[in-house]
Amino acid sequence: MMIISGARLSEVPSRILSILQPHLSTVAARNVAPVFREPFILTGYRLQDQPWCYYWKTLFHVHNESVNVWSHVLATLLILRHVWSFSQTFDFIEDKYGWSLIGFSLGCFLGTLLSAIAHQFHSKSVWWHYVLFMMDYGGVTLYTFGTGIGCMYICSQRYMYVVMEPVFLPLNVFFSWFTFYVCCRAKLKFASTNNSTRYVFMIAALLLYALVISIPIFARYTECMTTPGCSLASLNHLTMCFLLLAICAILFSCHAPERLAPGRFDLLGHGHSLFHLLCLVTISMQMKGVRVDIQAGAAAHTNPNLGNILAAYAVLISAQVLTLVTLRRDIAARAKMETLHWIDIRPKSK
Ligand SMILES: [Zn+2]
Repeated sequence: MMIISGARLSEVPSRILSILQPHLSTVAARNVAPVFREPFILTGYRLQDQPWCYYWKTLFHVHNESVNVWSHVLATLLILRHVWSFSQTFDFIEDKYGWSLIGFSLGCFLGTLLSAIAHQFHSKSVWWHYVLFMMDYGGVTLYTFGTGIGCMYICSQRYMYVVMEPVFLPLNVFFSWFTFYVCCRAKLKFASTNNSTRYVFMIAALLLYALVISIPIFARYTECMTTPGCSLASLNHLTMCFLLLAICAILFSCHAPERLAPGRFDLLGHGHSLFHLLCLVTISMQMKGVRVDIQAGAAAHTNPNLGNILAAYAVLISAQVLTLVTLRRDIAARAKMETLHWIDIRPKSK
């Protein structure tokens, strides 16, 4: 019998099937530590404390985070496709619009990539759950940082650009880091005891940040309302993004529809997966929105500096990494406490 890399040829189909099989042996919520459990999601959890290859393979199995992972894998690919499309129209080396688009797209790319990684691997252990979701918060705030670059250097109102631009990059770095820090602290304090309070802190910090970076765009609405002949419909491409972001925030926080029928939406259709899918749509709309504004001349007054934008990214990412390093003892203590608690309460095999 022919042998390929140690496996008999006849075994190859079954080996492929074992990787692509639609159902992994998932477990109920009571079989995983409390920190992994999501409200109203009763089944479909992956095992914890398995080798890394187990979590790689779960990419091709159905579990209660499949949609969370794949939606952001697709979003990451979609962003790369948009960047390639931008590169066909704008010069990323010489063109100021190309620089703004790099600044905007980089945040979107890092945000979706870190989210996909966190959801794919966090079940490894309680410690990895904390570390990876804190990296996910880093991704969320990098995405918001990139959106802020788009708001200021592509979609801003002219007067507000003149007023805010000199301080915008430091301000954007500070609010991004601050939001990241609040999310990490809230995760450490409330992750396994009070999810609602955690969401209140996270959404309040993100809302404040979103309001700050939206000021240059809000000014376009007030300008349009006071300018004869200007129709608010001309801002529909931006209004649609704001509406989608608001719906994203609601889906993120309200655990619907699963709260109405616990256990019914475990694999498909629970609130967090809908939130992820809507993020994909929102990012796509944002990508189209910035193109519309550039082509309509709305960014003609801006003067971005690619070096400054990339330096701001470097400072922000360094600050996030340093924050994680400073939180390492708190993360380790929390993970140890929850692991010991789980050893006490977990169902004992007979
Ligand atoms: Zn998520």
